[in-house]
Order: sequence, then C-alpha cells, then structure tokens
Amino acid sequence: MIRQLLHTIRKPYEPKALVLMYHRVAALETDVWRLAVRPQHFEEHLQVLRSNWRVVPLAELVDGLTNHRLRRNSIAITFDDGYADNYVTARPLLEKYNVPATFFICTGKLGSGAEFWWDELEHLILSTEELPHTLGIRINQELISFDLGDEWHLTEDIRQKHQQWKAFVQEPPTLRCILYLKLWEQLKSLPSHLQQEYLQQVKVWAGTPGHTRAAYQSMNLEQLKDLAWNRLFHIGSHTVSHPDLASLSPSAQQQELVKSKRFLEEAISREVTLLAYPYGSCNLETVRLAAEAGFHAAVTTQDCPVVSTSAKYKLGRFLVDDWGGKQLDTYLKSWLTTKVNAHAHFPA
Ligand SMILES: [Zn+2]
Repeated sequence: MIRQLLHTIRKPYEPKALVLMYHRVAALETDVWRLAVRPQHFEEHLQVLRSNWRVVPLAELVDGLTNHRLRRNSIAITFDDGYADNYVTARPLLEKYNVPATFFICTGKLGSGAEFWWDELEHLILSTEELPHTLGIRINQELISFDLGDEWHLTEDIRQKHQQWKAFVQEPPTLRCILYLKLWEQLKSLPSHLQQEYLQQVKVWAGTPGHTRAAYQSMNLEQLKDLAWNRLFHIGSHTVSHPDLASLSPSAQQQELVKSKRFLEEAISREVTLLAYPYGSCNLETVRLAAEAGFHAAVTTQDCPVVSTSAKYKLGRFLVDDWGGKQLDTYLKSWLTTKVNAHAHFPA
C-alpha cells in the first residue's frame, strides 16, 4: 500500500524526455504526410528549443536511459529519410543555433537522384493537370478500378484542396485523394522493385514519363560525409530500401539492417548505433535483429515520451508539423504530459 502510494506520488516527478521527428525543411506544393516544416518555422523551432529546452543528441539521451540518468525535459531532434534539404537547408540553421540532431538515412536512395515512391505517387495523382477518366490496375493480385469523374481535370479548387489535405488526420476531400490513399496502401508493404514496377504502370496510365524533381532528391554521399564530420550531428540507419520491416521475413529484415549499418559506417568511418524503423514498423523479430546487428537503440513513430522504463528499441517520437515557434513550445509542454503507452503510427 505504502509502496503504491509512493509510486503515485513519485510518478509526476519522473524524468521525461522527448524525441522529435522531422523529415524535411522545405516549402512543398502538397504535403499529405506532413513531412515538411518551412525554413522560417524551423528557425523559430530552433530559437524556442535553444531558449527554453535542453536539446541533447539522441545518443546522449539513450546513454542517460541506459545509465539510469535520464535528464528531465531533455529533447532530441531527429530527421528521417535523408532528403537533400536536410543538408542544404536544415544543417546551416542547426549550425547557426548550435543545436544537435540525428539524421536517419535510407542508404538505397543516397545520391540516386530518384524520388521516394510516396512523393512520386503524390505528385502523379494530386498534381497532374489531366488524367484519364478511369483507372484499372492490378496490384498484388488485387484489381483497383477507379472512376475519377469530373476530377480527371485538375481545377484550381481541387488543387487548393490538395494543398491543404493532411492524410490520416482529415478525410480525403477529393476523389483524387481517395485514389492516392488506395494506391498508397497497396504499395506501402511491397518490396521496392515491385513498388517501382507498379509506379511505372501508374505513370503510363497518367501519360507522363515522370521526371525527378530536384527538391525531392536524397542527399549524396559527399553531403552525408560532410554532415557526419560535424560534431553536432549523428548519423543513424533508416534501412536500405525503406521497407515495412514487420511485413518482411526475419532474414530480409536482417539484410536491411546489417547492410545499411555497414554502408553508413564505411561511408562516414564511424560506428552507427541508432536505427529508425521506416513507417515505425517493427515486430519482436525486428527488435531482436536490431540488437543483434549492433544497434544500441531504435526509434518508432509512436507518440510517447521517453521515461526511465522505456524500451530502448521502441523509443517513441513526436511528429513536428509546420508550426510557428510558440505553437511548438505549447506542444512540447503538452507532450511531456502524454501517457507513456500512447499509440499513433506515422506513415512515412
Ligand atoms: Zn522514412
């Protein structure tokens, strides 16, 4: 009884830390997965974080957790995927404010000049001026047939709806958004060669060869090395091909983890000990394989704070949206009071 009481009294004072999840610092035409924060907002975030909070490298936060010395209200910044704007736009601002960050890199895309499949699909379906009236495509044995009705032509009104739409937070406001989600759900768990194959079919249907947009590319090897050279920054793995790990066999998962780790370590001549699961997807096998591969900790996309009892291979993170500085500050305070076993999966 006394023990229980003590536990209840202590609980509010338990040290809590937060891991923030960013993807891009850019202004995008559409951003259905809330991946981008505009540069001016990102600068405001850094001002708030520097003035009001204790920002530490994720590796330091993990060390604190391991050594039972988690520091109250500490915050770690992470970036997923390895978009070139992390290097070009985020890095100079992080340097300006002397704020540390960890970049989780998807090694298969590094310097490839190719876009991620979800970006290409978003552009094809939501921004192509004219599409055929109907779509019939077989993906993974399932026939997807869809009638775009009047929306074969992209009007200004529809374009604006697409610019404002946030998937999973709001209902799809147009038929094109419904189609995008249908295709996205079909492609998400496929191996990358099949994603590319079906994406190619969608391009043929859309009547566009699809050109790579410079603003959607990943950083290249030189940029990665330069980033890693700065003591403020850490590099972590985000696998090779950005798969939905939980849907893969254990051996395929292992390949993704080991190969990306080895590639990064050779590229930056430093040990890589942190991992971010693509889409936040992991199962018991993933956690076991991550530890076996030599990762010290891994982050998910579940929005919960880090506490002394948090599992090191399932650390929660909070998605940071394109907010102003004050708004972020308010969110940070509320996140510190979030229940530890909250659940929310992020799709990219
Ligand atoms: Zn990702």
